[in-house]
Amino acid sequence: MNFKRLTASLAALTLAASFAHAAEPFEDKFRQLDELLPTPTDTRTASGAPGHAYWQQRADYKIRARLDEANRAVSGVETVTYHNNSPDTLNYLWVQLDQNMFRADSDNRNISSYPSREAWRGAGAGGQGGAQAGLQYEAARFLVESRKFDGGFKIASVTGLDAKPLRYVINKTMMRIDLDQPLKPGSRFSFNMAWSFNVPETNVLGRRMGFERFVDEKTKQDKNDLFEIAQFYPRMAAYYDAHGWQNKQYLGDGEFTLEFGDYDVEITVPSDHIVAATGELQNEGEVLTSAQRERLKQARSATRPVIIASQADAEAREKGRATTTRTWRFKARNVRDFAWATSRKFIWDAQGFKKGGTEVLAMSFYPKEGNPLWEKYSTQAIIHTIDQYNKYSFDYPYPVAISVNGPVGGMEYPMISFNGGRPTRDKKTGELTWSRSTKYGLISVIIHEVGHNYFPMIVNSDERQWTWMDEGINSFMQFLAETAWEENYPARRGEARNIVDYMKSRNQQPIMTNSESITNRGSNAYAKPATALNVLRETVLGRELFDFAFRTYAERWKFKRPTPADFFRTMEDASGTDLDWFWRGWFYTTDAVDVSVDGISEYTIGTKDPEVEKKWKKSLKDREPVSITDQRNKGTLPRRVDAHPELKDFYNEHDDFTVTNKDRNKYNETMEGLEDWEKALLKEGKHLYLVDFSNKGGLVTPLILEITLASGKKYVERVPAEVWRYNPKKITKLIITDEPMTSLVQDPYLETADIDTSDNAWPRKVTPSRLELFKSQRPQDDMMKDYQEKLKAKEAKKDSKEAVKDAEQSIEAGRRVQ
Ligand SMILES: [Zn+2]
Repeated sequence: MNFKRLTASLAALTLAASFAHAAEPFEDKFRQLDELLPTPTDTRTASGAPGHAYWQQRADYKIRARLDEANRAVSGVETVTYHNNSPDTLNYLWVQLDQNMFRADSDNRNISSYPSREAWRGAGAGGQGGAQAGLQYEAARFLVESRKFDGGFKIASVTGLDAKPLRYVINKTMMRIDLDQPLKPGSRFSFNMAWSFNVPETNVLGRRMGFERFVDEKTKQDKNDLFEIAQFYPRMAAYYDAHGWQNKQYLGDGEFTLEFGDYDVEITVPSDHIVAATGELQNEGEVLTSAQRERLKQARSATRPVIIASQADAEAREKGRATTTRTWRFKARNVRDFAWATSRKFIWDAQGFKKGGTEVLAMSFYPKEGNPLWEKYSTQAIIHTIDQYNKYSFDYPYPVAISVNGPVGGMEYPMISFNGGRPTRDKKTGELTWSRSTKYGLISVIIHEVGHNYFPMIVNSDERQWTWMDEGINSFMQFLAETAWEENYPARRGEARNIVDYMKSRNQQPIMTNSESITNRGSNAYAKPATALNVLRETVLGRELFDFAFRTYAERWKFKRPTPADFFRTMEDASGTDLDWFWRGWFYTTDAVDVSVDGISEYTIGTKDPEVEKKWKKSLKDREPVSITDQRNKGTLPRRVDAHPELKDFYNEHDDFTVTNKDRNKYNETMEGLEDWEKALLKEGKHLYLVDFSNKGGLVTPLILEITLASGKKYVERVPAEVWRYNPKKITKLIITDEPMTSLVQDPYLETADIDTSDNAWPRKVTPSRLELFKSQRPQDDMMKDYQEKLKAKEAKKDSKEAVKDAEQSIEAGRRVQ
């Protein structure tokens, strides 16, 4: 390097350094969300309420469906009556064909990918399209099987009520029906469709629906299936003010948004099956025995679940195979969808629940493999959910609420939900056991899926756009319900401290990410929004303001379709609090809370009284450490003045801290010149502390300061997030105490999701941890061995935290629990 160059780079360095200082732009974390939220309209107001011109479409259905058990297929005919309540004339209608996701050539199959080779070879998580189960073999098997399976709707006909064919075009998971006459505002149109599809096997290909194969332990032969049937008929796509026709294809992750309507559904199944479905059974006399009908009547006023069809009944039915069929008829009013389940294996219990405006029959349907867990917990968990959710939103309005145990890990439809979770039978002893995580996982999944009746089955948000609006809000409500089940309930999502690992992680996405683009569904769309709402409730607004605002949102938007802006605006409008900073930080960025207590300096008010001040100064001097020279001289170095006392005078008896008469006179003069308030302040003897905080995570947060005084007294000061308004990175806060402060802890109850608490305390605290000895493992190249070891490891840690994490991973990937 020659001289010239060196000067040049030095100059560049200096410049860069000065720019780094000058170019630090001020970021207003409290600026309004104007550029992010849509402009309010007559249909959606600036207060977050539906506007005076709010409208939504309506679709009524009459469906006749038939299960072909031998071929595992469903066929049906339906009449749709579509009400155009919009102010627009429609030339065509869009219909959702969600079964087409199961076609071998579907986009769901074709866009399946992994973030990296390691992701596939290692944990396997992150595989899209349902191939996430954590093991490569399962992923590969999924892809191979999905290419073989003849899935998707076969549309036999689309006709007007006059039986004349209607022109239609299928675009992957959607179908456009062209209307001969444009559909004018305020008018309606009825038409018929006939269709069929093969039911996917849930454990291999299915997602949210499908069948489960039960294998007889001894004969190893297929004996019976359990069918969970949903997204089974062509459904009207949503058409609404904010987005027009819903035009996002069903790629697999984004669920759906549909129109409300009335359903009249007939389901034909083998005559030894029991059917559970959305709505009320219309023909009990034709499908139930008189004993079953009598037990159902008793169940309505029972104080614990009543068995309608017992395990002995189910075991007897399982042995045969009916050759005749039976048709079950259900009606449901004002629902956005319809689903059902059927099997000859079903045990059935029920219990009524009445409170406020709610009058519901809670029912559970499960195979014997679910017992004894299911008969003990399922129906009780349904009632618990409704009781708790009613407290925070609105009274459950439907006549039934159902939990079905089958192959689907967790999925919700109006009035009915599919839930996984069973005990395991020891192969040798035949003993039934379950882990702690199985028990609480079951209660939690039932709370979650039954809870979805409120969000999004009634508060009808657009799931295909925003997973957080139903999953996040519902996970938050689930947390509230879980805490009311028992003390120390192992709730996984909601507590601020539980989101810290995620908020520390790399490659996060903001909560405001489209449903289909989310890589880490469990953390991003369930846990983080649930936690944010809990922080909003406990730390930012307080319970009273939050609960009123949240209930206002639920009441305003029940049986309507809210967008994110309607939620954000209602929460501010009804709590009287500008929360734009909160939505901006928690929902639109991946910033985290990370506050550091950088330093504290103490100030006391000078009394000016020489008796006090000189004593204080002396105490400071006395506190100074003894110098190393003085320490070593002590007792070892004879001093001249000790040998010659005549050398001592006045100054050997009095140091700088001796109060003189001159001092006293000066003080008295000063005091005479003081105003009364000045004298009072001097007397109080307050302690002042300047505390420096820095915001390392970017997310602005309220400060919760636990202050400990010299006497041991402790108290908490809560400082609103606006303390960061002038500078979101660094602030100094003045704290005044009555006695000396001995310690200060920011966020003592871990309620803000601070991702690094090692710098939250002054003085700093030692973080306790254990050093573990472990054998290091060489990387495994043997795929088969790796697979088996993982399986074994999975078994071994059933009850540990890792098992919970595993479950979370599968939930995050979205196939098991929705
Ligand atoms: Zn869910």
